[in-house]
Amino acid sequence: MMAEETEIRTYEPPEEFARQANVDDASVYDEAEKDYEGFWEKRAKELHWFKEWDQVLNWDPPEAEWFVGGKLNVAYNCLDYQVEQGRGDKTAILWESDEPGEGKAYTYSELTAEVKKFANVLKGLGVGKGDPVAIYMPMIPELPIAMLACARIGAPHSVVFGAFSGDSLRDRINDCEAKVLVTADGGPRGGKTAYHKKNADEALKDTPSIDSVVVAKRVGEDVPMTEGRDHWWEDLAAEAEDECPAEEMDSEDILFILYSSGSTGKPKGIVHTTGGYLTQVKATTRWVLDVKDDDVYWCQADIGWVTGHSYLVYGPLSNGATTVQFEGTPSYPGPDRHWDLIERHGVTIYYSAPTVIRAFMKQGTEPLEGHDLSSLRLLGTVGEPINPRAWEWFHNNVGKGNCPVVDTWWQTETGAIMIAPLPGLTKTKPGSATRPFPGISVDIYDEEDNPIEGAGKGNLVITRPWPSMLRTIYKDPERYRKTYWERLGDKYFVEDGAERDEDGYYTITGRIDDVMNVSGHRIGTMEVESALVGHESVAEAAVIGRNDEDKGQAIVAYVILEGDREGDEELIKELNNQVRKSIGPHARPEEIIFTPDLPKTRSGKIMRRVLRGVAEGQEDLGDTSTLADPSVVDDLKAARQ
Ligand code: ATP
Ligand code: MG
Repeated sequence: MMAEETEIRTYEPPEEFARQANVDDASVYDEAEKDYEGFWEKRAKELHWFKEWDQVLNWDPPEAEWFVGGKLNVAYNCLDYQVEQGRGDKTAILWESDEPGEGKAYTYSELTAEVKKFANVLKGLGVGKGDPVAIYMPMIPELPIAMLACARIGAPHSVVFGAFSGDSLRDRINDCEAKVLVTADGGPRGGKTAYHKKNADEALKDTPSIDSVVVAKRVGEDVPMTEGRDHWWEDLAAEAEDECPAEEMDSEDILFILYSSGSTGKPKGIVHTTGGYLTQVKATTRWVLDVKDDDVYWCQADIGWVTGHSYLVYGPLSNGATTVQFEGTPSYPGPDRHWDLIERHGVTIYYSAPTVIRAFMKQGTEPLEGHDLSSLRLLGTVGEPINPRAWEWFHNNVGKGNCPVVDTWWQTETGAIMIAPLPGLTKTKPGSATRPFPGISVDIYDEEDNPIEGAGKGNLVITRPWPSMLRTIYKDPERYRKTYWERLGDKYFVEDGAERDEDGYYTITGRIDDVMNVSGHRIGTMEVESALVGHESVAEAAVIGRNDEDKGQAIVAYVILEGDREGDEELIKELNNQVRKSIGPHARPEEIIFTPDLPKTRSGKIMRRVLRGVAEGQEDLGDTSTLADPSVVDDLKAARQ
């Protein structure tokens, strides 16, 4: 039984939305199912190709090639092709700075010009087709410009999230052996300044492959520049030629390398290629996020994560949309910053994340008051399972009940959205990512790796190759094979648990290693968390299974409170009741720990292995370098005393 089941409602697409949706004919599902290669071939034809493919798919598990022999360029698709279609004067990137109301807009023509120039800068530094370029920047327009410039000359980019430490940057640079690093002097975020060049200098002490560093100026303070190696972006750009032809890339040439967020272990250098990636990213942006020509579309992810790559940069630009890039945080200068931004720019589509939505919930609806959010017509979420209470809150308070909510399940590895509603067609259920995208085939397998019939719960599996799938782990094909394919051969093992209901809807229950086994009962951490946050005093909860001699595992819940309740015996009793009511007595936590904070990765995900380590009293908690705030670990240890 699902947590909060008794409260779950379903939502039909609002009529007004359905009438204008990009996809309004449910036969697309059947059509794609009959011939999934044909379906994707049609989507590929929506791109610009220098030369079309000879074969749609070559599948030799675990190696896939899509649109074999096709030639295209991703930057050409996102820039020149848009200008050719009359969008030259349309805003491509609407950049808002950390300070409200400050920012800059680039039309498609302007963006094209900047990208060509910077592509020539990279060429001037000796970067050629196939040479990886590392990018470590704050959320400034030079970041997507640098990515598109790489794509234009066929140099794979490896974007490293700008808040990572020098050490994390060093490891990622050394893994891909980049010759050039593109960074910035720094950048303001939430009213504070981060100094990227300074961190980069730490990394650069031990990165033998780097010959040149390009530094964009954002902060304008003095930074140390190493003679011969470091150059200011603006100086190089001022001297660069204006024209730069787009390289004709093979469909299977590498577009980028991106390291996964490291929630479960050492980050993996996920490799994405050109034709299949852009095909699925473009199609899902149109079909799931319903992006149209007159939209002001805002994906609030950082470009340093895959969501920013696919749905802030490549998806919206390849569709000729106006994409908002925001430098700041949701809470600066006040808790209403997002609502203020939506109102001022007339944002129509807002793509967010559960961790952000739950933080909004904690503040209540007051920050929303006085803001006109009537421009919004669609809301989206990605990154983690969203508990039904947060989904409802988002739908009711941000969308005012008028905007469909698309809960989109996918991974760095999948490159693009895999399970999500088509908002003009799909009835939504809070907490469920609903159905696989047309052309995508997923299933649920049991512990013995047999497919489950009908409704049930188990391991999520992707049963066919898809265009934007990762092609390998950079320089580690063996880890690629082992991690994703060893278990099922020609089917992709996701490492997420899921539940399928009678309507064929999928609810992600969390990562596989987040499924607990308590006295023989398999219980998802997410289910228990969902039950706990169903209590009005709980802002956030994280649940893990601690090894237990008697039961196999015992449930430990870390709970952050909201409002003015004390974490006392009385509340513990109420919380236990809450879990018993919504799941059953077997799911009652053995231990409830009240804590002010949780260990989160920089992408906002809870690092459960740390919680498990603390609950088991382990001294060594493993690699915690990707934690947003490593000091949380000490707080947790103290809270457990
Ligand atoms: P690592 O693989 O390095 O441990 P990560 O899995 O957190 O890191 P990402 O690729 O950014 O890195 O995240 C993908 C994962 O996020 C999915 O496998 C899933 O667990 C979770 N996820 C993403 N979107 C959703 C969603 N809509 N609903 C439920 N879970 C989601
Ligand atoms: Mg993962």
